Amino acid sequence: MASSSRLALSLRRIRRCPSTFPRTPRIPSLTQVRWTGNTSATSEPHQPNGKGGVQGGPTPAKAMQFTSDSYPELKRDSKYGQINKEHVKFFQDLLGSESAVINDFSSDATDDIEPFNSDWMRKYRGHTKLVLKPGSTEEVSKILKYCNDNMLAVVPQGGNTGLVGGSVPVFDEIVVNLQRMNNIRSFDEVSGILVADAGVILEVADNYLAENNHIFPLDLGAKGSCQIGGNIATNAGGLRLLRYGSLHGSVLGIEAVLPDGTIMDDLSKLRKNNTGYDIKQLFIGGEGTIGIVTGISILCPQRSPAMNVAYFGLESYEKCQEAFREAKNQLSEILSAFELMDGRSQKLINKATGKKMPLESEYPFYCLIETSGSNTDHDNEKLQTFLEHVMEASIVSDGVLAQDQTQIQELWSCRESISECLGHWGGVYKYDLSLPISSMYDLVNDVRNRLTEAGLVGDDELHPVVDVVGYGHMGDANLHLNIPTRRYDKEVEKQLEPFVYEWVKGKNGSISAEHGLGIAKKPFIRYSRSETMIKLMKQIKDLYDPNGIMNPYKYI
Ligand SMILES: Cc1cc2nc3c(=O)[nH]c(=O)nc-3n(C[C@H](O)[C@H](O)[C@H](O)COP(=O)(O)OP(=O)(O)OC[C@H]3O[C@@H](n4cnc5c(N)ncnc54)[C@H](O)[C@@H]3O)c2cc1C
Repeated sequence: MASSSRLALSLRRIRRCPSTFPRTPRIPSLTQVRWTGNTSATSEPHQPNGKGGVQGGPTPAKAMQFTSDSYPELKRDSKYGQINKEHVKFFQDLLGSESAVINDFSSDATDDIEPFNSDWMRKYRGHTKLVLKPGSTEEVSKILKYCNDNMLAVVPQGGNTGLVGGSVPVFDEIVVNLQRMNNIRSFDEVSGILVADAGVILEVADNYLAENNHIFPLDLGAKGSCQIGGNIATNAGGLRLLRYGSLHGSVLGIEAVLPDGTIMDDLSKLRKNNTGYDIKQLFIGGEGTIGIVTGISILCPQRSPAMNVAYFGLESYEKCQEAFREAKNQLSEILSAFELMDGRSQKLINKATGKKMPLESEYPFYCLIETSGSNTDHDNEKLQTFLEHVMEASIVSDGVLAQDQTQIQELWSCRESISECLGHWGGVYKYDLSLPISSMYDLVNDVRNRLTEAGLVGDDELHPVVDVVGYGHMGDANLHLNIPTRRYDKEVEKQLEPFVYEWVKGKNGSISAEHGLGIAKKPFIRYSRSETMIKLMKQIKDLYDPNGIMNPYKYI
């Protein structure tokens, strides 16, 4: 609970902000904030090498453990053909350009292939000897037909920012990377419908839409690297799902290539189309297991001219829930994001980067609220009433409000850079969970107590665990439980699994809210899906991919 003097100070701060609130002055300007976070999926976290701990730099791909070694129970399925020079020649003739085929047969291309073999977390590493980069849907079709005819296994790959090991091979599966398919095909300003190749980078699509006064209905920390096809394949949720909903709603059409080479042209631009099964939905969250998405059509909202971002310190998780309830009540249609960060996650950003955080005092919890609307005066009035209420009612203890685009980005980076900063000490055990909001943070406390009681948490090298933190998309009841560690450790794993999954099942939650299953969560699907549902999924997989060439060893 905030002390009355603290509250009074906070209220005075709010009342000193003329540029933001014309009728009541301001909460502290972010010009005092020296910290400028920067999240980019291309700057990799510092992950451990194959032998254990690493400090001070990302593990070179070649020092990483192979997935086939860390998952010894996985055996290469002998039904798949071995890639040979004849296959490589076929692909070289098909794709023409030298750079479209990277192979380890005609020349030593190990260094060029490694980035396609290893994932963003430096946790999964495959053995592929062949990477293909098709430039058109027809080329994807010919590649898959050939692979299907020759029983060659394939891994579709976008920006390779996935967090469950789904985008890299386990053994020698061929990587089909979509990066050369990066054209915006059309945009209609009246309807707001964008049609684009699957390999367009999310940020590129959003920048293009910004020029046309629209916004991509998805935003996430990896936007500078992930591709919109990868977003579809993982059914990415991200930072604005609260406002714009899931891709299951905003994607209007999909062009995809089935494993036998059939081009499924369902690039509809219709919002309403009740003519039979909605098959495109199977590709949203399909993680490359039934085909390769090559194009999408998506409904994009108008870009809001008025955007505000506020960052609060709160004394308890109960206060966070109250703040969320009030935000929904009072900001309703202009609320575009409500994010939760615990104090420990913010402290670790500070420890990892040495930078100053936005608020002077420390709090056990922080929330970030974004509003976006079409009328600045209207939004400011609503926000002002909301801010006054949450401060006066002692729901929040302190807060800052961004006053320009740079400050908006600075505040957002307090949330977006957590994932990257937690990798600073070595490895991170990551859980991406859907839970009832009321008990979401109890899990973080329970896991921290469990690991502490097991003697695994501490400040020195003797303890593998640095801390246990929770953050996430509170507006979507989506918790990211992260355990930053100095090294991956079997004892830590034993404490975490199946404990976390059983805990989530006990609350009827989901073991994967938005990152998908990949290889990391595959063994645990039963905690969130019934036998009947798994059987139906397997039937769909067998129907579309009877030879099982698409992204094997993962998903279901
Ligand atoms: C810093 C950071 C922040 C993140 N934040 C979020 C977040 O807020 N919300 C969220 O949901 N995720 C988040 N992620 C996870 C990740 O960025 C998303 O899952 C993203 O959608 C993956 O896109 P990608 O192009 O990198 O796909 P990849 O990683 O290349 O692939 C992911 C999966 O999709 C398949 N795939 C890729 N492209 C295609 C295609 N064209 N056709 C068929 N299958 C394909 C792959 O086989 C793989 O199974 C974050 C990741 C990072 C590194």
